Amino acid sequence: MAVVEIEIRANVAVIQVDNPPVNAISSQIRSGLVEAIEQIEDNNAVDRAILICRGRTFMAGADVREFSQQPQPPHLPEVTAAIEASHKPVTAVIHGQSLGGGLEIALACHYRIALAGSRLGLPEVKLGLLPGAGGTQRLPRLLGAEAALSMIVSGDPVSAEKALESGLIDGLCQLSTENPLADLFEYALDFAQHLDLSETSHRRLSLRSATAPNAGLYDQWRERYTKRQRGVDAPQACIDAIEAATSLPFDQGIARERELFLSLRGSDQSQALQHLFFAERRALRNTGVGTAQARPINCVAIIGAGTMGTGIAMSFANAGIPVTLLEIDPQALARGMDRIASQYAATVKRGKCSQDEAEQRRELIQGTTDYAQLARIDLVIEAVFEKLEVKQQVFEQLDRHCKPDAILATNTSYLDINQIAAVTSRPQQVLGLHFFSPANIMKLVEVIKADRTSDVAMSSVLQQLKRLGKVSVTAGVCHGFIGNRMYQSYQREVGLLMLEGAKPSQIDNALYQFGMAMGPLAVADLSGLDIGYLMRRSLDESKYEQRAFLIHDRLVESDRKGRKSGAGFYRYDASSTANQDDPEVLELIKTIATEQGVEQRSIDTEEIVQRCMLALINEAGHILDEGIAASAADIDLVYCHGYGFPKHRGGPMQLASCWGLAQVEKQIDELARTQGPRWWNASKSLRDAAQKNSW
Ligand code: NAD
Repeated sequence: MAVVEIEIRANVAVIQVDNPPVNAISSQIRSGLVEAIEQIEDNNAVDRAILICRGRTFMAGADVREFSQQPQPPHLPEVTAAIEASHKPVTAVIHGQSLGGGLEIALACHYRIALAGSRLGLPEVKLGLLPGAGGTQRLPRLLGAEAALSMIVSGDPVSAEKALESGLIDGLCQLSTENPLADLFEYALDFAQHLDLSETSHRRLSLRSATAPNAGLYDQWRERYTKRQRGVDAPQACIDAIEAATSLPFDQGIARERELFLSLRGSDQSQALQHLFFAERRALRNTGVGTAQARPINCVAIIGAGTMGTGIAMSFANAGIPVTLLEIDPQALARGMDRIASQYAATVKRGKCSQDEAEQRRELIQGTTDYAQLARIDLVIEAVFEKLEVKQQVFEQLDRHCKPDAILATNTSYLDINQIAAVTSRPQQVLGLHFFSPANIMKLVEVIKADRTSDVAMSSVLQQLKRLGKVSVTAGVCHGFIGNRMYQSYQREVGLLMLEGAKPSQIDNALYQFGMAMGPLAVADLSGLDIGYLMRRSLDESKYEQRAFLIHDRLVESDRKGRKSGAGFYRYDASSTANQDDPEVLELIKTIATEQGVEQRSIDTEEIVQRCMLALINEAGHILDEGIAASAADIDLVYCHGYGFPKHRGGPMQLASCWGLAQVEKQIDELARTQGPRWWNASKSLRDAAQKNSW
């Protein structure tokens, strides 16, 4: 079958699209649709048409295989214009998803109907774009400015049920029998047969005018998104395009939409967001564990009901998987169970799930203090204190009590997983699962393959994490794995910049303005300066730049551990405001700089951002050299999903590509010259990347 075919059913032309697997809108589909409309116009036997897709979904967006190629005509705006201009009414018949260009095509049709359970949306903004085939002009004409803003600027899809309520669709086919697609087809034919043909021209959205909203609506949205997505261009461009729909005639609005679309397409931001989109898809497919057969995981246990243990338990319960939560004593267990109950109560309060759902999920988590309860568990995740001896004791117990094929994972942040595996009789079943806090919300998990971890164990947990909706990145064993190891280089540069004269607030502001979710010193205060302090005490002194952490360490020693002790780099009392430098800390920095013989100077924002980013990029290069990460894209996923790196910059490695890899290499060589080669020795991966101009 051709990708677009017409079948005639009495007076109805049935336009069928078939481009497996998801009916992506390829150039063949675009030309096929234009030809189909021409044929229907010429065919006197038919007076109406339905547009329906085979397979599992309606058209769900552009064909990603064509992303890297020059777009072939006809372009989507020409297709939507041709459909809308048809004198015979076309009804879009939606099942599965109608997203992006798929919904723009549906909006160009004269009527839209959908199968219950389908989803409709314009997610282009998430790829740094806007709907560029009339979507920003037709949707406000159909639903009004406010509803269009909420769909286009958020990019979030709506259900067919909601779409019926809002008027986005004109009919909803309920799921009634074993064969809903056959039902939908019958429903569509019947719907089309009952149309009043004299209405067709009124159904063309381009001929309607969109009502101008209340004064100030657009500015409110601009302000909201300036805060919510700092520095991101696409949401602002979407708002501009929708404003054009309510202030200009359709043709001029379309011209404005095109102009805005072209300014986004090919921009660094859009490339960065697309890079992350593809990196996520590759991470899902490419797990680096060959064809190893995954074993099913039907029940899990978590050891330790602290911050991480409770969050991890909730992640599993939210996916319907029963969890046994083991603590050292009944009091600690009760505290953990209380924390889970209050988290679920907060989830209900925020409207994220119903009371019943929360109750069901909570009941899936059963507490215990008895290792004998773990005999039948498939996967255990340990999240106790970050001390090797404590973790080894736990693993000895697990090895004794768990069935031989159970997988034993540790949530350690830095420790050597080989040393943990070594105390068990099954090192092939031991691996790292490094979740991020709060674990029930954060999508990232680093999955760490130790020296003897089997591919079966890896593929079983990767499959399971997919079920949880997590973004998994595989990594090898080293101090801090991918993310925390790079973070230490970043913190090192922050420490050195302070010694050289940059104030804490200046560093935090510079990196916040660059797009980081928080400045590094505010983060350090939030997570507690004592954590890094203890970690460094357990580390060989040759492994880190001691000078860079002297300020951190002196603060801890004077009981300034961060937010939890009321002061760290900043003060957290009623009289101080966020990110306001504390004269005591500035004095301390000066004293240490003098002790270290560092001459202070004035440092500008550009140098702060550059040195911190180059530190991340260079460490990442060494991580690639050592095979700890499989690809530069994986490193970007870790940073954007786990460390508040701005998604519209695509991660540190994408940033390096955007700055120019040869330029980055030159800057790192220059830092090696001025700061010494110890930390600025350029990685082989960076040198190679600079040569071939890609990672
Ligand atoms: P936490 O102090 O909040 O919780 C640890 C829990 O483990 C406590 O409730 C304690 O009672 C329990 N525990 C201690 N020894 C035990 C034992 N022998 N048997 C059973 N339970 C025991 O710590 P956390 O922040 O949840 O960190 C746990 C682990 O996760 C650490 O290895 C940490 O490095 C890692 N981690 C933490 C974060 C974070 O942001 N907090 C992020 C990633 C990884």
